[in-house]
Amino acid sequence: MTIQKILIANRGEIACRVMRTCQALGISTVAVYSEADAKALHVEMADEAFLIGPAAPRESYLNIDKIISVAKAANVNAIHPGYGFLSENEEFAEAVEKAGMVFIGPPAAAILAMGGKSEAKALMEKAKVPLVPGYHGDKQDEKLLSDEAAKIGFPVLIKASAGGGGKGMRVVESAKDFSEQLAGAKREAKAAFGDDHVLIEKYLARPRHVEIQVFADKQGNTVYLFERDCSIQRRHQKVLEEAPAPGMSAATREKMGKAAVAAAKAIGYVGAGTVEFLLDEKENFYFMEMNTRLQVEHPVTECITGLDLVALQIQVAEGQPLHFTQDDLEIDGHAIEVRLYAEDPANNFLPGAGQIKFLEFPLEERGVRVDTGVREATNGPGDVISIHYDPMIAKIIAHGATRDEAIENLKAGLDETLITGPKTNLVFLRRLLDEPDFKAGKVSTSFIREHEVSLLPPKAAPSELSLALAAAGLYARRTVAPASGSPWDDRSSWRIAGADKNVFTFKDGDNLLPVTIESGLDAASGVLTLPGGRAMQLKILPAFAAGFDIRLDGQVYSGAVVQEGRHVALMYKGHYEDVHYLEPLAYDEGDEGGVGKLTAPMPGKVVAVRVELGATVKKGQPLIIVEAMKMEHTINAPADGIVEKIHAAIGDQVNEKYELISLKQA
Ligand code: ADP
Repeated sequence: MTIQKILIANRGEIACRVMRTCQALGISTVAVYSEADAKALHVEMADEAFLIGPAAPRESYLNIDKIISVAKAANVNAIHPGYGFLSENEEFAEAVEKAGMVFIGPPAAAILAMGGKSEAKALMEKAKVPLVPGYHGDKQDEKLLSDEAAKIGFPVLIKASAGGGGKGMRVVESAKDFSEQLAGAKREAKAAFGDDHVLIEKYLARPRHVEIQVFADKQGNTVYLFERDCSIQRRHQKVLEEAPAPGMSAATREKMGKAAVAAAKAIGYVGAGTVEFLLDEKENFYFMEMNTRLQVEHPVTECITGLDLVALQIQVAEGQPLHFTQDDLEIDGHAIEVRLYAEDPANNFLPGAGQIKFLEFPLEERGVRVDTGVREATNGPGDVISIHYDPMIAKIIAHGATRDEAIENLKAGLDETLITGPKTNLVFLRRLLDEPDFKAGKVSTSFIREHEVSLLPPKAAPSELSLALAAAGLYARRTVAPASGSPWDDRSSWRIAGADKNVFTFKDGDNLLPVTIESGLDAASGVLTLPGGRAMQLKILPAFAAGFDIRLDGQVYSGAVVQEGRHVALMYKGHYEDVHYLEPLAYDEGDEGGVGKLTAPMPGKVVAVRVELGATVKKGQPLIIVEAMKMEHTINAPADGIVEKIHAAIGDQVNEKYELISLKQA
């Protein structure tokens, strides 16, 4: 059969990515969207789009009946589930087929077989694929689990069998913590997956996460498209992936590839799938789980194989055989992907949300590719990273003939990426690429933790260059850049005669840092004087939309400034700086929080209160746990103190910045 029309049961980056291939193949596309996504890029890109419900995934992107009825009404031949949402839901796969359409993914039985981590491990044990030592049985009583943990030997990892995205996963260092961690894992698993079944594994020290991309057609041909190293993780979740795995031997690649193919064959797999392994320092590998869908990080495999995995998925779904064999496949160079997230690396990578104020991606050249589902709206507000969905903003992928070349290309790509609005991990990612151990390929899942000192340096005073660019950027936005064609909106300080003097005062702690810009007749040129007295020649060049192109003493800088109250977000070439700006009229929300106030970092639900009124607490002690975006976030005491008031109880729904606990000095 030929597929002519596909419904994409997803949103964001992956929905857009699938549509790009459909467009290239001349297949028409149908988008579905929630109320929160009415103006989303995937809706704009699709040939047809249907509203399927409110923002909450349960009522829209997870609503099987609704999606099937839209697919029928739109008369599509097939449904692509993307990743996340319904992509690994066997009932959905079945419902699609029952409705007479093609599910672009594996058969429901294969999804079911690998659906639970416990069942998958039991199955792989039979297929003689090596496993991480542990307990993956049915029994769930605490005594038995803690005995098993002791048998395995601490540290152990408790994992939700239904898990994904690191939810319901806890490391337990010693027997005395077991009970509490088990309760936390079960609570999180229940909330995220409605199923609190857990398994226990030996927690390996410094392993690498290496996974194999497999592909199978309906004729029984199964190949592996090499590996991806996804060891660079925070909170046990990937942020950087690369292919091939640096330094891994060809012999291990082949052994692992064959084990993955055996795993796929054992469950009658069809389509794109990923078999995840942990690799130890001696290149022993252990099966972790199989993901029965396209992975977030599939682009690195596309780069090194030259294949379009979505196009292959569609061909296989149409019943065509794979047009190549294992022997035809070769690795072409090296590819690296980083995930740009709305999150705060300085605050334990806490996921964030909010409206994008400014956004520029690198031009897709020099081996850089950008996969995203958001854009900055040119008219009116930009897209919103919603608390309802995954906070990933984009994937930036670079390819090169060698690993070093891929790193250089990616660095250049990140240098050209500018974003403000929600806090992001952009600067963190850029630092990662400069880390000598990363360059040397010495990666493991503990990499970020072990390199925290250089990856997460304390906030430093703004550099002279940052102060100069922040002032010049504000000046450019305010006085030179016309807001529109209308003379009434023209904010340029066009003058008949005389010089103009502008002072921009920034603040670092108690230090006032005034930067002066004096211009002559032409508002676009002048002299900029730094707080220390150093003078620089300034020229404002014609710039793109909301950004700036500024020449300072002959050197040109491209970037952007966005002012929000007393914060000026400044970006230029791999730098991001939040500068405290003293504008007399600016109101600053951030100034409000008193020292002893503990506020909710994001909207969520209080799931545990760990202290009582009047208790004396130590700095770093866990006080309260808030569940948001399906993860539990522990709020710790910022300093020693006494609990003066508790403003929230278990079960309370709280808004961002809601005061949870007041502390007073001990
Ligand atoms: P999820 O499906 O929730 O993402 P995974 O089972 O894929 O969870 O594990 C996520 C990450 O946790 C792995 O990539 C690895 O870094 C770490 N991890 C998982 N199991 C172990 C283990 N037994 N020992 C050490 N680290 C582990």
